[in-house]
Amino acid sequence: MQNVRVRFAPSPTGYVHVGSLRTALYNFLFARHHKGKIILRIEDTDQSRYVEGAVDNLLDSMKWCGLEFDEGPQQGGEFGPYYQSQRLDIYNKEINKLIEADKAYPCFCSQERLDKIREEQANANLPIKYDGHFRNISPDESLKRMKSEAYVIRLKIPAPGETKVHDIIRGEVVFQNNLLDDQVLIKSDGFPTYHFANVVDDHYMQISHVIRGEEWLPSTPKHILLYEAFSWKLPEFAHLPLLLNADRSKLSKRQGDVAVEDYRRKGILPEALVNFVALLGWHPDDDQEVFSYNGLIEKFTLERVNKAGAIFDMDKLYWFNGGYIRNLSQEDYLKKGLKWLVNESLDTGSDEKNNNILAAVRNSLNTFSDIKEKVQLFYADKIEEYSEEASSWIRLDDSKSVFKAMIIEIDKYSELSLEEFKAIMKDVQKNTGVKGKELWMPVRAAITGTTEGPELPTVISVLGKEKIRQFVLQAIER
Ligand code: GLU
Repeated sequence: MQNVRVRFAPSPTGYVHVGSLRTALYNFLFARHHKGKIILRIEDTDQSRYVEGAVDNLLDSMKWCGLEFDEGPQQGGEFGPYYQSQRLDIYNKEINKLIEADKAYPCFCSQERLDKIREEQANANLPIKYDGHFRNISPDESLKRMKSEAYVIRLKIPAPGETKVHDIIRGEVVFQNNLLDDQVLIKSDGFPTYHFANVVDDHYMQISHVIRGEEWLPSTPKHILLYEAFSWKLPEFAHLPLLLNADRSKLSKRQGDVAVEDYRRKGILPEALVNFVALLGWHPDDDQEVFSYNGLIEKFTLERVNKAGAIFDMDKLYWFNGGYIRNLSQEDYLKKGLKWLVNESLDTGSDEKNNNILAAVRNSLNTFSDIKEKVQLFYADKIEEYSEEASSWIRLDDSKSVFKAMIIEIDKYSELSLEEFKAIMKDVQKNTGVKGKELWMPVRAAITGTTEGPELPTVISVLGKEKIRQFVLQAIER
């Protein structure tokens, strides 16, 4: 494929929805796969939706996810500016062309009138649309009224007939023109609508493929009619399947975290999030699930994007992330983990101790924000809670003799490192005759409160003599 140019065109809302991340990612993968360009364009013409700091947040989230753009607000480029709010003169120039060609017209209808026809249509069970009231007034009258009255500019939808969308993912989708509205292109505040600015910019920026969420599919016939009104070449279209909750409702903020920032805050790794999001609606031709960026770029094609909605399985994301945490290099893991210890005010002040604590919990983390809960043991004076399984091990008669023997042995030492602990356990085994699982499970239960979780040797080296003694005594008392 030649000269691929795609764009990610968000309207910044203050946070980045995972659905937006997926759109950005698929555009990015498609561009890189075809050695094309990806452009970031900020669609900020809706003044009522302006949110302070939204663009910075967006740029920051994209960067965190490793998504790089070839052109955009930060990189610049020969098709800028990349903020729609800075392109108003272009939209003005283009709308005038449409008015002159009698393909667009000013509409002076008041909101009251629009509400009234809407109500009448609803009552009569008719499709809700503008009735074309100002479609055919004379250019002279238009000009006169434009000087003193508020107006919008609408597109003259050619009727009747149908408009076909050729979608790479969905095939051919046909829309009846008589159901389409004479859409507003320029609003009464002089700003373009999303539809108008989007089409003009895609043309100006020489976009070859429009890849976006399925919610935009109903807008596409309107866009195609606009391209036709301008006699511009159409880009190709690909509409990505919806993201759904487990109950198949549309993924929304009410059901839980949907913002990239939420996951970042919760200690999800960007590589894990990107890998997970890549699989929401796309899968390779085999069962591979774990991908690096380069792996995704190599394998990604729009042909392998599904039509059906993709379920956003939060548990899978956390499970996935756990795998990524275990795959980090030891050095990288400790560096990242230390940040979390510090954030949670759990820095012990000793590098060795911090590292041992982090190493002990690594296998039990699904995300870095689990650290707080998992490391508790190392900071507590007693075991706050025993798991059910731990309790039943502790209650066994054999376990009691093991604990008592342990206290006698522990008291022979002034300090307790791993070596000494092993020696103690050897003697305990000899003196009590208890061995194997029956020996180790109660010890683990007494010292950690659970029968799984952190590795015993690391726990021993971090806890030290006094705490181990205390925890074993606590188990005897139970
Ligand atoms: N500004 C639109 C959005 O927020 C862009 C849709 C499109 O890609 O055309 O999603």
